Amino acid sequence: MSLATVNPATGQTLDTYPLMTPAEVDAALDRAAAAAAALRRTTFAQRAGWLTAAADLLDAETAAVAATVTTEMGKPVTAARAEVAKCAAACRYYAAHAEEFLADAPLADPGQVGAARAWVRYEPLGPVLAVMPWNFPLWQVLRFAAPALMAGNPGVLKHASNVPRTARYLGKLFTRAGFPAGSFGPLWVAADTVADVIADPRIAAVTLTGSEGAGRSVGGAAGRALKKVVLELGGSDPFLVLPSADLDRAVDVAVTARCQNNGQSCIAAKRFVVHSAVYPRFVEAFTARMAALRVGDPMEEDTQVGPLATESGRAEVAAQVDDARAHGAQVRCGGTVPDRPGWWYPPTVVTGLTPAMRMWREEVFGPVAGVYEVDSLDAALALADDTPFGLGAAVWTRDEDEAARCVRELTAGAVFVNGMTTSYPALPFGGVRHSGHGRELAAVGIREFCNAKTVWQA
Ligand code: NDP
Repeated sequence: MSLATVNPATGQTLDTYPLMTPAEVDAALDRAAAAAAALRRTTFAQRAGWLTAAADLLDAETAAVAATVTTEMGKPVTAARAEVAKCAAACRYYAAHAEEFLADAPLADPGQVGAARAWVRYEPLGPVLAVMPWNFPLWQVLRFAAPALMAGNPGVLKHASNVPRTARYLGKLFTRAGFPAGSFGPLWVAADTVADVIADPRIAAVTLTGSEGAGRSVGGAAGRALKKVVLELGGSDPFLVLPSADLDRAVDVAVTARCQNNGQSCIAAKRFVVHSAVYPRFVEAFTARMAALRVGDPMEEDTQVGPLATESGRAEVAAQVDDARAHGAQVRCGGTVPDRPGWWYPPTVVTGLTPAMRMWREEVFGPVAGVYEVDSLDAALALADDTPFGLGAAVWTRDEDEAARCVRELTAGAVFVNGMTTSYPALPFGGVRHSGHGRELAAVGIREFCNAKTVWQA
């Protein structure tokens, strides 16, 4: 078996990469174990210098890296460049803040535990296996790698099988920037051997960003090996539009929130829950804007939506829309696979959804919006919550009490009021329910892969 770069805009296979032999996997894990020992002897200042150098490399190589990403997974090249910039910024953020996040935390009143001094110190756990997806093939990896490396944990990257060129670039980036050999390297293995890697004693912990199914597998393997795991899984985020919302702004953001990254984002708004007082105006304006998006060659500067990343992903999205249509939903725009090479699917708006349809309950990983009409805030909250997921949520209202109630009652890892759900290095990121557990980013994220060691001294 091999890994392949297939251009989703054309369906053409550009190159293939062999998987590692068992001996090569063994050597890669040895390198990670050696790097764990080496990193423990480094200082925050050294690691910050190397991470800053990695940011400088990303900045300097933006054009080439963005073209690689677009060629492999189809996002518009403008979005790929923005992703590179976000990665460089995250490196700089952790270079600046990791030491403060991981500083010893003394107990203010050690007498209460009978000690002269007591404190918590944060120590690295060791090599972390990172199983990563293709949708933000740089950012998902950097979001883990930047804090992990600053904490002193090496990373071993099992990237998605359709982004090997990006994986190869990332596998060299950190050592090129100065980190000790083995600090962050690729592992060219198939998904069905990941459990063996997790069980290997040289791996200390696991992080996965991916689907619910992969989450069950990786989480199960980590459980059997008694290893810490962070799971960032899918979502079917609600986007609530209430009567007092700034409707023009809500429509603008709704289009971006659904179609960014060609609709393939875990935190994309997927279910638009709209109060009947504004529903007709919202549907009309939103549908017009979705239909007007420029779909085309993702290497072109003015393209807004490119192809989906994989043939199977496109087939899944098409099947979900076809299922809704067959059960009586209205497809307001899009909804048909175009007759051209590559994995294209148009921006699509569907209304009239019912619980009998797959779209009601499943995540749709493409530029397809389900719009639901509700007649009260109670109904909006109940519908928003009627999902197995709990990643992000957005609410549009000018009423502070309504906003506060939504913040309290929405089951999600993040709630954005009058804005689009996104991630920032300074804010924790993650989900609840089937969207996973654990957090990335901010202080809580960097501590996920640390041993919070209690020290008590008489
Ligand atoms: P997958 O889960 O198929 O792939 C993600 C990674 O997991 C890939 O490296 C894949 O390897 C690997 N993988 C898949 N199955 C297994 C398994 N059984 N055991 C071990 N590893 C496995 O997801 P997609 O790439 O299709 O991405 C889409 C899904 O990921 C959506 O549900 C989306 O919401 C979610 N996602 C969540 C994000 C978040 O931050 N919460 C962000 C991005 C995506 P291989 O490619 O070799 O199959």
